[in-house]
Amino acid sequence: MNSGGNPFRQLPSVDALLRSCDAEIATWGHSRVTTTLRGLLAELRGAIAGGAAPDLADDALRGLLRARLEAGESAALAPLLNLTGTVLHTNLGRAPLPPEALAAVVAVSTGASNLEYDLDSGGRGERETHVEALVCELTGAEAATAVNNNAAAVLLTLNTLALGREVPVSRGELVEIGGSFRIPDVMARSGARLVEIGATNRTHLKDYRNAIGADTALLMKVHTSNYEVRGFTRAVTEAELAALAQEHALPLVVDLGSGNLADFAALGLPQEPTVSAVLDAGADLVTFSGDKLLGGPQAGIIAGRADLVEAVRRNPLKRALRLDKMTLAALAEILKLYRDPDSVARRLPTLRLLTRAREDIERQAQALLPPVRAALGTDWQVDIAECHSQIGSGSLPVDTLPSAALRCTPAPDSGADPAALAAILRSGPLPVIGRIHRNALWLDLRCLEEDQEAAFTAQFGILSP
Ligand SMILES: *Cc1c(COP(=O)(O)O)cnc(C)c1O
Repeated sequence: MNSGGNPFRQLPSVDALLRSCDAEIATWGHSRVTTTLRGLLAELRGAIAGGAAPDLADDALRGLLRARLEAGESAALAPLLNLTGTVLHTNLGRAPLPPEALAAVVAVSTGASNLEYDLDSGGRGERETHVEALVCELTGAEAATAVNNNAAAVLLTLNTLALGREVPVSRGELVEIGGSFRIPDVMARSGARLVEIGATNRTHLKDYRNAIGADTALLMKVHTSNYEVRGFTRAVTEAELAALAQEHALPLVVDLGSGNLADFAALGLPQEPTVSAVLDAGADLVTFSGDKLLGGPQAGIIAGRADLVEAVRRNPLKRALRLDKMTLAALAEILKLYRDPDSVARRLPTLRLLTRAREDIERQAQALLPPVRAALGTDWQVDIAECHSQIGSGSLPVDTLPSAALRCTPAPDSGADPAALAAILRSGPLPVIGRIHRNALWLDLRCLEEDQEAAFTAQFGILSP
């Protein structure tokens, strides 16, 4: 509190304050400290003008300054623990990368690399050669190219093959994925003209046949990754569509969304079409994401017929959507892991998390229960609850994976609040993100890897007095 006099006069000058900020200057640098101080003093002037009487003592001002400087640091992208139960969580960064991928990123990006240089000829090379060869080897595609994400893959494919022309798509497949990606909107931006056919629940082969005209550029099928229509339904298979497309000499493009390369049935996971199965069924081009079931970095892959991939590659938009060397390096390492089907589920984090057995997660929950109980004290009842993890990222929404959660329920009459606990767990150096359900905070342990357990329990340390 200031005592009497003009409060504006009591505000110290930036220069005066800077003289007592040696420690802050050493950490954050002179110019950041100066800028932050100016902003702080302007705010205080505003507050005083508004009738407030802030504490203007040196120590108080330095405290405010430090809080602001530290808040600026934490604004950066930072790791956290995803205990939401959704493995491929779009808001939480989707697929975690294995060490092989990170090592490759470091290796190609700390110095120069052969990104577009052919070491055999000593001349210019293609930036995607390695990734393309691996995609072809693993999927049986003739050719492949890669862009920034699957949305870009769809945009570029349609813009290349259907600019100003018609593309019939089933009304049952006009999906929205995560708010900002809607098939009709992306088609419009690509310059293709969407022709809606069939009904939401039923589309027949004859609907496609009737829609084909002189202006038709291609046939398209979109994997309805994030929802399922049940009951009186009918969708045309890729094989049926491929036959029709061939009859009319049109390409069949399939937007697979997730597009996995592994045999999910063999891994004990819900059935999901593989890229090679869709190509075998007769698709001419398949588009899919790099960071969904594939388990790699954000990317979009276009694989299939060589002449169509070449046309896509020559589109000037390709340059605007192309991948950076860091992503290409990581993507190649992920693809290499798929060469050994026996070890990929162990070595690739996404598949490792998806295939974790309930019993394994339950054992982990038993081990973590005592420290969590101790940290939460008597206001909370913590138990191990059965739950169901979701695969996430628009894949397999109706198929869930049996899992186990640490469930934190307020003790009767404790006044404890799950939302408040969730906020505290979000606030530490390694935020823990759970899910509130039925007045309890659920921490699904499926995505907690063994080497993260210590950090997880340490986060509960902030609760102990
Ligand atoms: C997820 C998805 C997309 C978008 O993929 P991103 O890699 O997120 O851009 C497009 N189509 C389908 C069917 C999808 O599931």
